[in-house]
Amino acid sequence: MANDNRQPTTDGPIRTTDYGLRTTNSADLLRSIPALPDHEVRRLLEAATGRHWTSLILGVDLTTGEIVAFHSFVERRRADEPLQYIEGIVPFGPIEVAVDQRVLVPRPETEELYEIAKVAVESPLVIVDLCTGSGNLAIALKHTFPAATIYATDISSDAVELARENARDAGLDVTVLLGDLFDPLPDHLRGRIDLIVSNPPYLAVAELADLPVDVRDHEPTTALVAGPIGDEVLATIAEAGSDWLRPGGVIICEISEFHGPAIADRFASLGGEIKRDLFGKERFVIGAAPQ
Ligand code: GLN
Repeated sequence: MANDNRQPTTDGPIRTTDYGLRTTNSADLLRSIPALPDHEVRRLLEAATGRHWTSLILGVDLTTGEIVAFHSFVERRRADEPLQYIEGIVPFGPIEVAVDQRVLVPRPETEELYEIAKVAVESPLVIVDLCTGSGNLAIALKHTFPAATIYATDISSDAVELARENARDAGLDVTVLLGDLFDPLPDHLRGRIDLIVSNPPYLAVAELADLPVDVRDHEPTTALVAGPIGDEVLATIAEAGSDWLRPGGVIICEISEFHGPAIADRFASLGGEIKRDLFGKERFVIGAAPQ
């Protein structure tokens, strides 16, 4: 670039970026990325360098390795990969979990579910998380209730593997089992569970086409879509749930905003009550087994 008289200030070579800017300076680099929102570019540079964006924006010299990593992250994001997969880590309530294409990225709504679950039962001793994915709910609840025994199940062996890694990395003891909903649970838990939580797949097949492309093309479809109607997995949970809860035990599930009344019906024997999320959408069903 004719008017670029910057000198290298690190011992690494000056790189010509994909966008024609010769720089090792983070502030210049941040300005050089078109077609992505600023806050995403900042987060990608944070992820590539391990530095806080306040120092990056002021301008620090970056190594060649950091710049190369940043550009590969930008390319992945431009190909619509979820930002959280690129960052690799998502905060969730009191913990953080690693995420990648094996699992759904935990959503703010599911963090609300965690907040509801935290106060739903006094000192729960046995907690089960169905469709655990990254293990976010199960691990956060173990953090909150260290004395509780926590089981998490998932039908995806990929998810089970990652949930186990996340529990181990958090130093929290969660038993993660491979299988469909209640199937892999030990039989002695029948009628003994204090609290069941779940963010199951709840979209209808037809909804898939209209999802944002980063969700549709990158997150696991089995974690999103339940069947032709979308309430199929929740129907099974509602049916089996009363067998597994102790008398007075509580169940809280995330649901589709379009299914509130139908799900309330399905959970009627547990007194299914529908609760809205912070966006005002009917998002949770809360039930309790009769005393
Ligand atoms: N809330 C998710 C989405 O709309 C769906 C999650 C789910 O099916 N559990 O992307």
